[in-house]
Order: sequence, then C-alpha cells, then structure tokens
Amino acid sequence: MNVLVVGRGGREHSIIKKLTKSPQVDNLYAAPGNGGIREEAACVEIDEMDIQGLIEFAKTNSIDLTIVGPENPLNAGIANHFTEAGLTVFAPSKEAALLEGSKSFAKDFMEKHNIPTAAYATFTSVEKAKDYIEAKGAPIVIKADGLAAGKGVVVAFTKEQALEAVDQMMVNKAFAEAGDTIVIEEFLEGKEFSLMAFVHGNKVFPMVTARDHKRAFDNDQGPNTGGMGAFAPVADISKEHLDFAYSEILQKTADGLIEEGRSFTGILYAGLIMTKEGPKVIEFNTRFGDPETQVVLPLLKNDLVQVIKDVLQGEDPQLEWEKASCVGVVIASEGYPGTYKKGIKLPEWKHAPNFFAIHAGTKWDGETIVSDGGRVLLAGAKEVNQEAAQRTVYEMLDSLKVKEGFFYRKDIGM
Ligand code: ATP
Repeated sequence: MNVLVVGRGGREHSIIKKLTKSPQVDNLYAAPGNGGIREEAACVEIDEMDIQGLIEFAKTNSIDLTIVGPENPLNAGIANHFTEAGLTVFAPSKEAALLEGSKSFAKDFMEKHNIPTAAYATFTSVEKAKDYIEAKGAPIVIKADGLAAGKGVVVAFTKEQALEAVDQMMVNKAFAEAGDTIVIEEFLEGKEFSLMAFVHGNKVFPMVTARDHKRAFDNDQGPNTGGMGAFAPVADISKEHLDFAYSEILQKTADGLIEEGRSFTGILYAGLIMTKEGPKVIEFNTRFGDPETQVVLPLLKNDLVQVIKDVLQGEDPQLEWEKASCVGVVIASEGYPGTYKKGIKLPEWKHAPNFFAIHAGTKWDGETIVSDGGRVLLAGAKEVNQEAAQRTVYEMLDSLKVKEGFFYRKDIGM
C-alpha cells in the first residue's frame, strides 16, 4: 500500500523508520519531511498546514493511508477534510483534537468526566487572573490556552513570576491569540510520565510508558522546551497506578469523547504526574508525543501498518513490546529554545550496534544535511536495560565531540 506521513520532526522520522520495516508498504511519502527522512521516504514539498495540497497529493498518488504527526493540522481539521474527501487518515477529528488545542476545553472536559487533574480556573481578564493569583499564592502554574509548541506554560514559584507570566501572555501577547485565554492551575508535585494509546472510539490500546525531560539544561534547569530527551519504559510506576491510568484516565477520556460526539481515531497521549493521591493529568496531546515516540516505537514488535489497520477497524491490534529499554538524547541548536543559528553541518555518526539516529530540524541543502531547527537530532539506543541504553548513547555522543553550535543534556534517564 501507499502511505503518507505528514510532518517534519523527529516523531515523523521515527514513524517512517518503523514503516520502512513493514512488508505492507509499497511507496512511502513524507510531507514535507526533513534531511533524515529523505533517505528513507520520498519527501514532497507540501507544508503540513496545506490541507488541500495534501488531499490532492493523496488522491493523485493513490495514498491508502495518511498518518498525521503534528498538532497544528489536527486542530485545523485535517482528519475531517481527509474523511470528507474519501481518504483514509489516522488522526482524530478537529472536535476531538481540541483536547490538546485548548487547555481550558481540556480542563472543563476532565472536570465534567471526573478525570483526575489539578484544580484550575480560566481567565480572559488580566485583573481577575491577577486577583486569583494574589488569593492563591505561589507555587502556581500559568498556561496559555492555545497551542504554543510546548512553551506556553510557566511554573511560577513566586507570586511575582506568576503575575509577570500573566502580563507576558495576556498583555504582551507572547503567544499571540493562544494567550487571550489563560488557565491558572494548582501546582502538583510528583514524578511525571507519559502514556500513549492507540484509540478508536471507546477502544483503547495503551503503549509502554515513557518519560521526557522538558527543561533545557542538566538537573532540570533552564527554560521549558519541546523536550530534550526521553526514555521508555518507566520503571518507577506501579502496576496498580498504571491500571488506574488506563481505566480512570485513558478509558474515561475515550468514553467522554464519544459521549460528546467528538470522533477520535488516532493517538491519545496523556502527560501524567504521580501525586500522593495517584496519577493526575497534566496535559493531553492528541497525537504521538515528541520525543517520546522516538523511544517508544522502537520497542513495538508489531508491524505498525497492521496495528493502524486493526485500530481503524476497531479491532485489537494485540500489541507486543520488547523487553528492552530505549534512551534518546536530543541534540539542539545552541540558543534553543530562544534564538539559534541554522545551516550548521551535522556531526557524523559512527556505526554502532543498538544505536540509532533520528532527524528533527534538519534539511538537505543540495550538498549535505544541515541543521534547520531548534531540536536537530536525537541520538538513541535500544538495549536490554536503561543503564546499558544510556551508556551506548553517551559513549557515542562523547566519541563524536558534538561540534560548536549544538548542545545536549548529559543526564537523560539518570
Ligand atoms: P507540550 O510540549 O508537552 O505540549 P505544554 O505546553 O502542553 O507541553 P504542559 O505539558 O501542560 O505544557 O506543561 C509543561 C510542563 O509544565 C509539564 O511537563 C510540567 O513539568 C509543568 N507543569 C504543567 N502543569 C503543572 C502543574 N499543574 N503542576 C506542576 N507542574 C506542571
């Protein structure tokens, strides 16, 4: 069959790598793809937000299945448009993608369906938001309502920081209209982990757990980023808490979406925090996580095409997972998540068993592959356990002496 993957990041490269192993794939395309993806699939120059362009491409090239990576086209209704055009797409409807696209919607949804999460209030007025902060005190969490590429959240440890965040979002419009509405949340303490699941209607098929590292620098210092590395599975979550997360979070969410007539076929991602009262939801994504996917998919034994075909028909894909661990370390451009240079030549990997490299912000400049984004590459390893996977990744990174212009965290998975 002919498969199209929409997106240009590490997550999409990871999906493509998995698809290349499927005997069912005849032709594999990515739109627009990146420097690494072009070595494994045919890249077509169509932006992920050009939904009509993607539909035309899918029709002309007899695409049997389209898999959508990023959140922006989901919120723009790519799944609705593909379905209306009679094309098979593995992605949730715009109505369901709101679970990620609007934090106030997600919070109201969780309250309505009794899904455990932090206490919150929603504001469209600067004064009222500030009064609330004055009354509640710090620590407290301020979130821009809309999509902000993982940067629209401020965990404020002082009242001043919280008030400043409100000004940044609502007055200075740091995230444009994404910050016109804000959610202010109770600060929760605990270890975070993420749990993704293949979902079709009320059928939920969970994957293994993963943990990402969102802060830019070692020891969780520095600003929040899209994610600086991840590992899977996470050993410190008990079976009891996992079962709770399946039934009280993932399943209830899928059931709630049906109840509200929001059609969901695709990936549901729950960002969870292990509080003293049990797991609670920090956020939902309605697509594969990045960088979690890069460490979860290599552990999936099944053919991804078959899994998606089964899920699309509401059948149990019988997921099987390798008894191994993956660790992935993001190599980012110096300056990320602020400003950074592009066009820098990439480090060259040596060949090493159990090591894999995923491209994110990279492109082919006509002669070679160069950096083209904040998060550039992910160095990953799959080994029998987490310690061994860490060793493989960091030995590779040490041996490369990753050049000027890039940085990476030295403590992923530690
Ligand atoms: P993503 O890049 O995953 O889409 P996002 O912008 O949707 O991120 P959140 O995941 O909601 O943002 O929050 C980012 C981080 O802020 C979380 O991973 C967590 O570390 C911290 N955080 C968010 N909400 C809370 C909370 N209520 N209590 C404590 N920390 C929180």
